[in-house]
Amino acid sequence: MKKEPFVSNEKLQEIVKQFPTPFHLYDEKGIRENAKAVKEAFAWNKGFKEYFAVKATPNPFLLNILKEYGCGCDCSSMTELMLADALHFQGEDIMFSSNDTPAEEFVYADKIGAIINLDDFTHIDFLEKTIGHIPETISCRFNPGGLFKISNSIMDNPGDAKYGFTKEQLFEGFKILKEKGARYFGVHAFLASNTVTNDYYPTLAKTLFEVVVELKKETGCDIRFINLSGGVGIPYKPDQEPNDIRAIGEGVKKVFEEVLVPAGLGDVAIYTEMGRFMLGPYGCLVTKAIHEKNTYKNYIGCDACAVNLMRPAMYGAYHHITVMGKENDVCDHTYDITGSLCENNDKFAIDRRLPKIDIGDLLVIHDAGAHGFSMGYNYNGKLRSAEILLKEDGSAELIRRAETPRDYFATFDCFDILKDMKC
Ligand SMILES: *Cc1c(COP(=O)(O)O)cnc(C)c1O
Repeated sequence: MKKEPFVSNEKLQEIVKQFPTPFHLYDEKGIRENAKAVKEAFAWNKGFKEYFAVKATPNPFLLNILKEYGCGCDCSSMTELMLADALHFQGEDIMFSSNDTPAEEFVYADKIGAIINLDDFTHIDFLEKTIGHIPETISCRFNPGGLFKISNSIMDNPGDAKYGFTKEQLFEGFKILKEKGARYFGVHAFLASNTVTNDYYPTLAKTLFEVVVELKKETGCDIRFINLSGGVGIPYKPDQEPNDIRAIGEGVKKVFEEVLVPAGLGDVAIYTEMGRFMLGPYGCLVTKAIHEKNTYKNYIGCDACAVNLMRPAMYGAYHHITVMGKENDVCDHTYDITGSLCENNDKFAIDRRLPKIDIGDLLVIHDAGAHGFSMGYNYNGKLRSAEILLKEDGSAELIRRAETPRDYFATFDCFDILKDMKC
């Protein structure tokens, strides 16, 4: 399928007059349509809730849009919990799915009434010692180990992942938690990342549903929700078939009716914690070509770099690139598209076939709406870019300003350097 930007060249030329590149641009219309489709796909389940994985795109404007569609927040750290709380997400609309959790984060999560999803058996004790009790509602993260396969193809390797309880620990953990006063239980698992297949959730659901039926039988615990977590992917490459959330919802419904309903568990709520699927395609990184360099290869240097979007440098991830205004030109040039870090892996694309790029051309780097801006960092003293929302009415709103040198130097307040800084 041809990948097209959600913004036209004409509109983007207007936006860059108002806001300098580079910046992350988000598509309000796309976000809303997708959030609505997710809600509808799981409407068959009375308690369904998507807890948006805040780490993917921790922006209050975007979280508030998702909230309109019934989404909660899935948090993994103190600042994410603080953000969710400040936006008035209420207690059980906040899931705290963390790992290697510092004590003060459990304290804060408990204080705001978030649902605590324990990553490890030893955290039962740690939590009780830290907050002085076991919450009434508690969830545990399950890791079945081994390889996770869908019809013989290996999706991921949970046996090699640091997360979750083993099956034995899960059963033992539930018994202990019940003895210690927990009343309502949840089970969570995240077994594969960026899955571009409609079978991931249904396959994971079957594994979890079967465990839950056993757990119920063996421990008598009142299991109220099953959290399928994140991992639903997006087609970063043009030849990938996008997931169909309606088919995914139907697939989960089918196993729900096969496994949970006959076991008397038809009231269990399905929760999800999608990040990438909720926002990935509805954000892009907009950057300008500022240099062309021809040595042993042909390079286009742009004004964004890996600090604005780390996935290509970190995982060799593919992000599609559109040269704006040249959408229909033939791709008869081969470029490495680079940023300015003193790191040779600072390349958004390597040997990419693209139309001829001229200095000043705008490049749209697709699918940066999740795990894009949020993975940003400050190496080489680079500053984080702005985030802009392309609203449904066609206007552009600044939803986070770009960092300034003053922000970068702010943590040197102990050195009293800011007064001498011309910024
Ligand atoms: C990262 C993460 C998610 C979101 O993952 P996506 O791949 O963005 O869907 C959900 N839950 C937990 C616990 C995570 O760590």
